Amino acid sequence: GLETREVSAWFGARKVLERVSLAMPAGEVTALIGPSGCGKSTYLRILNRMHEMVRGAALSGEVLLDGDDVYRPGRRPAEVRRRIGMVFQRPNPFPAMSIKDNVASGLKLAGIKVTRDEREHLVETSLRQAGLWDEVAGRLEAPGGSLSGGQQQRLCIARSLAVSPDILLMDEPCSALDPTSTRRVEETIAELRGQLTIVIVTHNMQQAQRVSQTCAFFLATHDTPGRIVEHGPTEQVFHHPRDQRTSDYVNGRF
Ligand code: ATP
Ligand code: MG
Repeated sequence: GLETREVSAWFGARKVLERVSLAMPAGEVTALIGPSGCGKSTYLRILNRMHEMVRGAALSGEVLLDGDDVYRPGRRPAEVRRRIGMVFQRPNPFPAMSIKDNVASGLKLAGIKVTRDEREHLVETSLRQAGLWDEVAGRLEAPGGSLSGGQQQRLCIARSLAVSPDILLMDEPCSALDPTSTRRVEETIAELRGQLTIVIVTHNMQQAQRVSQTCAFFLATHDTPGRIVEHGPTEQVFHHPRDQRTSDYVNGRF
């Protein structure tokens, strides 16, 4: 699994995360919830070393992937990003590239060499895992941009899965999707559970309860950086929160 210990983050002089410690259990889905600006996306980017690509960004603390620090000196960011994939709010396939090549594109970026047969096989298994195969099997050469928004998001999930990551980070993956597409993505998440570790940021409280087993509530105020107020089994966070602020947030009183 994935774990952070006392992770703090800055943009320039401004501290945006304060000592975030969280264990995201292997094979489970962890939901990150909290108001806008509390540092959820920043936290996700820290997990797979995308934070360091932001100018002026700094970091302290530890990020452990199966006990091994992602920021260990000498460890290559590309290796970390292959093992920890990310799916974003807006589906971002290469619009002019074929569906098939979109899925395979991650392999090239990760420097993974495969034969043509292995490649075909990986494209199919990844599309199946993402719950998209039945819809695109007959038109793998069509451009990625010809798919609906919800299909494009599942294409992006397939692209992430093609390199066999251990972890999949999802930053509000359904907020640009209609209810039907949202359902399909949630079904995909449920199918993937057990096969890999998933961390999902969502503003949708019903979704957090449907898809996750562990939940962490982040909060920032005008003068304090984002921190975890409460975390634990999803059912506990939603139905027996220990902190009044968690209760207020999950019940929409924020
Ligand atoms: P939302 O729910 O709206 O997506 P969030 O919880 O994902 O919010 P972040 O995007 O992580 O929040 O932002 C946390 C804080 O860091 C915010 O105050 C934001 O303004 C600041 N921030 C984010 N990215 C940068 C950046 N590149 N440079 C400077 N400040 C940033
Ligand atoms: Mg965000």
